[in-house]
Amino acid sequence: MEARVGADAIEAAINALRAALGSDAVIADRDQLNEFRDPFYVLGDDSHDVSAAVFPVSVEEVQSVVRIANEHKVPLWTVSQGRNYGYGGAAPRVKGSILVNLSKMNRILEINEELGYAVVEPGVRWFDLVDALEAAGGKWWSSIPDLGWGSVIGNSLEYGRGHTRFGSHGHNIAGMEVVLPNGEVMRTGMGAMTGNKAWHAYPFSYGPTVDGLFMQSSMGIVTRIGWRLMPRPEKYASCWVHFDGDEIIVPVIDAMRELQLDETINNYPFLGRGVSANAEGQPDLDPNSQKWALRFALYGYEEIVEAKWRIVERVLGSIPGVEIGRKVYDGTDRVGPDKGIHDDRVQAGIPGMELLDLYKVPFGPDTGHLDFSPIGPLIGSEVLKMVRQVQKLYDEFGEPYAAGCMLLPTSIIVVSVMFFDPKDKEKTLRMFENFDPMLAKMKSEGYGLYRTGIYKMDAVADTFDFNDHALRRFVETIKDAVDPNGVLQPGKQGIWPQAYRG
Ligand code: ADP
Repeated sequence: MEARVGADAIEAAINALRAALGSDAVIADRDQLNEFRDPFYVLGDDSHDVSAAVFPVSVEEVQSVVRIANEHKVPLWTVSQGRNYGYGGAAPRVKGSILVNLSKMNRILEINEELGYAVVEPGVRWFDLVDALEAAGGKWWSSIPDLGWGSVIGNSLEYGRGHTRFGSHGHNIAGMEVVLPNGEVMRTGMGAMTGNKAWHAYPFSYGPTVDGLFMQSSMGIVTRIGWRLMPRPEKYASCWVHFDGDEIIVPVIDAMRELQLDETINNYPFLGRGVSANAEGQPDLDPNSQKWALRFALYGYEEIVEAKWRIVERVLGSIPGVEIGRKVYDGTDRVGPDKGIHDDRVQAGIPGMELLDLYKVPFGPDTGHLDFSPIGPLIGSEVLKMVRQVQKLYDEFGEPYAAGCMLLPTSIIVVSVMFFDPKDKEKTLRMFENFDPMLAKMKSEGYGLYRTGIYKMDAVADTFDFNDHALRRFVETIKDAVDPNGVLQPGKQGIWPQAYRG
């Protein structure tokens, strides 16, 4: 899909942006713009090129950008850090969009030491936030995803996931500020009241709570959020469960559900086959491996962590064929790269880049990947069925299946990663083609995806088909009302404004 405006309108918008924000804030040079291509797609492909990139430094500048886009009816595509790798990176859904890159709005506006929240702008990366928390005394931990270079806002708006107690990043947002498609600024929740003292401390609005409308969404540009933090625990145990062969998934998952629901385990565990770091902390990617590794964490006072471990031993340790283990750290002992493996670090909210190295194993430094991530209920027999179904699809395509499942208390995201070499056009495209029958099969079995990249947004949206896509029609109705010119992120998550439909 291309922008539905002429080159002259795009040119006029770029000139207006230069006039409003200064020419240093705008990149229109083709070579420089190539930096914003998706590195995980066919190398050199131009089908999602942006026509310019603009770098606002304030909310007022974001408002100017949106107003200029409306004037010229030019589509915008927002990124915070644009590190959404595996889902499109910084590349827009619509070719010719102007990229709104918020990486220069990178202030941490507040760290609230009593209530445990931070208030951040979009350019704040996980590395920046954790550095600031440590510099402030380390009383608070942040949940983080596997890679530290992305932003708190970009990841959490996409329902990204972390691995501590507050690892459901979409749930972790406490109050937003948003520039709406007409250029107006809105604050959600208690922030809708001027001078309200509980904006980032209380989750709801008076009346409908609209924060969800800005997640995986094209309804606004989020310019700040409140972000919940976790108190540094006295003790932290990084725990693992190892087993060989798929059948043992059933009792392990059923036990994990019980342990999560009664909050013995209150972080977000990860179950992988062939994708974990090995015991020496080295990247270990062996999709042919039959060895499963589940990791989870226990946090709290020493007595609590000990008592919880005894329960874990009783419940998980008694499953035949299962080996369990743990490493216990003091909360103040930040697990550096010299100590502990990725699993230990990520569950303690210590950001790194080691997983990116792991993902380079298949095809070297250029390795790309496409993620397929259906959600199912957290029931052992169901999870085994899903894993076997996904395995069968990978077998049919002759591709290795590296499984990485993210556990919630009642559901599981069965993520799998298709690796390819972006320099090999034919094979890369084949991988993207393989996605479609996988999607169709999983949909027919009752499983939907939690997230997808720019290439498959329409296809995934199509699978949410209840009552002739009532949900999509509802969201499009709102989209048309708030963004009549269809300038903000047209096509994101399969939501097209009026001007692009049909
Ligand atoms: P990260 O910071 O993790 O690299 P991205 O910047 O790539 O994440 O953003 C991921 C996706 O989230 C983008 O494609 C965009 O659609 C959306 N997004 C990112 N930042 C914002 C924002 N500030 N407001 C609205 N949507 C955003």
